[in-house]
Amino acid sequence: VRPTGFGAVGEWLGAWAGRVIDEEPALTRLDRQAGDGDFGTNMVAALDTLDLDALRTASSPERAFTAVSDAYLGHAGGTSGALFGVWFRRLAGAAGATAGSGPAGFTVADLARGARSGLDAITALGGAQPGDKTMIDALDPAVRALEEGVGNASSPATVLSSAADAAARGAESTAGITARRGRASYIGEAARGVIDPGALVMAWLFEEAARAA
Ligand code: ADP
Ligand code: MG
Ligand code: MG
Repeated sequence: VRPTGFGAVGEWLGAWAGRVIDEEPALTRLDRQAGDGDFGTNMVAALDTLDLDALRTASSPERAFTAVSDAYLGHAGGTSGALFGVWFRRLAGAAGATAGSGPAGFTVADLARGARSGLDAITALGGAQPGDKTMIDALDPAVRALEEGVGNASSPATVLSSAADAAARGAESTAGITARRGRASYIGEAARGVIDPGALVMAWLFEEAARAA
């Protein structure tokens, strides 16, 4: 871990992808309770096409993010495939904009910029707002925490752990709301008590980032 950044983007994404694949049954169960039951399948359809060892040792953060984006855009069905695809595309863009973006060149400031851009792209595509019981409920607070931490010049570990906490709290908050967007909106009150699986998987992304730092 470098003082101004966190180098292990490939390891971070590899750990996260492995976790999502391992948790497919739980994710599918959540989408069965509050959606159409294909979320875990859609995640694995994309992530199983990745060579996780190659991802962990990717030669640059931009390549690592692009590989995950390509996997989603090329292989996942469902709403989540497109949304995760553009999300990781924007992170790749932020990584590529950094001068000398070697394996260790990605900083929390890059992450804050890429995550804001990714959140904007997801909002433009899907039209959801915080409180609609979607992945936005994890991403919006996480992006705010990143921006605040970067603005305060906090250490990368501090910035990432506050983003991870914010995303986890946001994901948990989705259990308390009925959905206004996505398929979960079709079943109304029946979705209460069920965590949105997209928000959960995004919270894991920030948790694994904090762990990688
Ligand atoms: P589908 O709803 O097409 O079956 P998935 O099951 O793969 O798609 O993905 C569902 C997830 O996508 C939800 O858990 C939610 O987080 C996310 N989602 C659905 N609609 C939106 C939206 N409009 N904006 C942001 N995220 C959304
Ligand atoms: Mg679904
Ligand atoms: Mg579906």
